Amino acid sequence: MNKKIGFIGLGIMGKPMSKNLLKAGYSLVVYDINTDAMNEISALGAEKAESPRDVAEKSEIIITMLPNSPHVKRAVLGPDGVIYGAKTGSVLVDMSSIAPLVSKEICEAVKEKGVIMLDAPVSGGEPKAIDGTLSIMVGGDEEAFGRVEEILKTMGSSVVLVGEIGSGNVTKLANQIIVALNISAMSEAMVLATKSGVDPEKVYKAIRGGLAGSTVLDAKAPMVLDRNFKPGFRIDLHIKDLANALDTAHEVGAPIPLTSQVMEIMQALKVDGKEKQDHSGIVQYYEKLAKVEVKK
Ligand code: NAD
Repeated sequence: MNKKIGFIGLGIMGKPMSKNLLKAGYSLVVYDINTDAMNEISALGAEKAESPRDVAEKSEIIITMLPNSPHVKRAVLGPDGVIYGAKTGSVLVDMSSIAPLVSKEICEAVKEKGVIMLDAPVSGGEPKAIDGTLSIMVGGDEEAFGRVEEILKTMGSSVVLVGEIGSGNVTKLANQIIVALNISAMSEAMVLATKSGVDPEKVYKAIRGGLAGSTVLDAKAPMVLDRNFKPGFRIDLHIKDLANALDTAHEVGAPIPLTSQVMEIMQALKVDGKEKQDHSGIVQYYEKLAKVEVKK
């Protein structure tokens, strides 16, 4: 409990996650390239750091919550990175969603400094980050996992060690494939209903308790019906995850044809200037094809 925790990356997710650590009584040292974000968390009691290296010098457990692989590489291995300040025996917990192969690469690099790395991406989005009820999928050393499990439980209601380093991010890619395909299937179905002259809200109510019902349907169908595409989870971040899924799939030899189709749908939405919208905005691709709008 008295261990000092370092936290790097105070964005949509990192901010509420770090607030939950403070609420649970942990002392934090934080860093973000955005000083406003750092000031907000330091006003709640966290110490501000000068760089990722400074964070690592002042803590034993270092958490990163950054956009993608290059950002994590830069913060850990780049100039003034974590690797230059970390003490032997420190645990680096990368909670960003990045390419599994990059997790392995960074893990190997920090191992030379005696630092153990876990990859621990999350699912649940901002609302669950605020509530501290994220699903956290972890890859890496079992003993290191034991050292940080309690800490992770202040941010998530489900914390599962899936396997070796990289398996947390493989699990997250599996999650993102299922979510992307679900939203696309829902969109196709709701556009079909609307074009057929059937009220899409009634269709949603009629099917949500049956086999087609899902967490995705309940989270995203009401957003579509309200024409509310405020993120949530942005299309550009989902494109990043599907790019990592396609790269990983091709490297291991597991073709994922449906994912590649949804990737192209998201690319079309990006060309249309919709990449900052919530991924429920996928419905607009189908609406354009069928020339209808799904609404209440
Ligand atoms: P975000 O863009 O809101 O936040 C990223 C933060 O990292 C920003 O504050 C940025 O200033 C900071 N940053 C970038 N480069 C940095 C560097 N080199 N050093 C220090 N700080 C740096 O992103 P987010 O929505 O919080 O997502 C973070 C990760 O969590 C992503 O991998 C994302 O895919 C994943 N994720 C997001 C959600 C969601 O709903 N937003 C849900 C699950 C998982």
